[in-house]
Amino acid sequence: MNKIYNWKLKDTVIIDLFYIISFIGIIILLGIISIIYLMIFIFFYILMNLLLAIICHDCPHQGHFCPGPSQLLFGALLSKKLIKKEKISRKTMRITLVFYVLIGMGNFIFSFIVIIISLWSSLFLITLIPPFCFLIYATIAWPILCPKCSNKENCPVRNFKKYF
Ligand code: SF4
Repeated sequence: MNKIYNWKLKDTVIIDLFYIISFIGIIILLGIISIIYLMIFIFFYILMNLLLAIICHDCPHQGHFCPGPSQLLFGALLSKKLIKKEKISRKTMRITLVFYVLIGMGNFIFSFIVIIISLWSSLFLITLIPPFCFLIYATIAWPILCPKCSNKENCPVRNFKKYF
């Protein structure tokens, strides 16, 4: 565990389990529906992480997994390889943050809708597992883990409003 993290592994295992169940559920169920939908989801998921790599360029967690709002995304990890410590303008950050939120949330919400509409008649309650687990994750992970993050004062994702 990186020493700049203020939390322990046990803090996140149970919480992030909900994210993992949701993520794997989306992959499996979209794969059942159509390989095209699956590829669209993966494409936007990678794009979301590339945007996060820009957002996290100045964070002490750059080059590691984020212990704050973006825990299981690999953007912060990727950031060290892609983005050097150069200054990124406030305007670029603002635009990047907007696209990050729209693409990130839009991708998940669109996938949940596709899954429920396409598979409700055959798989019924199983189609609700990914959105239900994601909702639990978003509701409990951010309020519990974000305050333990050593970059909580400066994190652009957590302090989204400061950029507008
Ligand atoms: S704390 Fe914020 S800036 Fe740092 S890695 Fe996480 S999301 Fe990125």
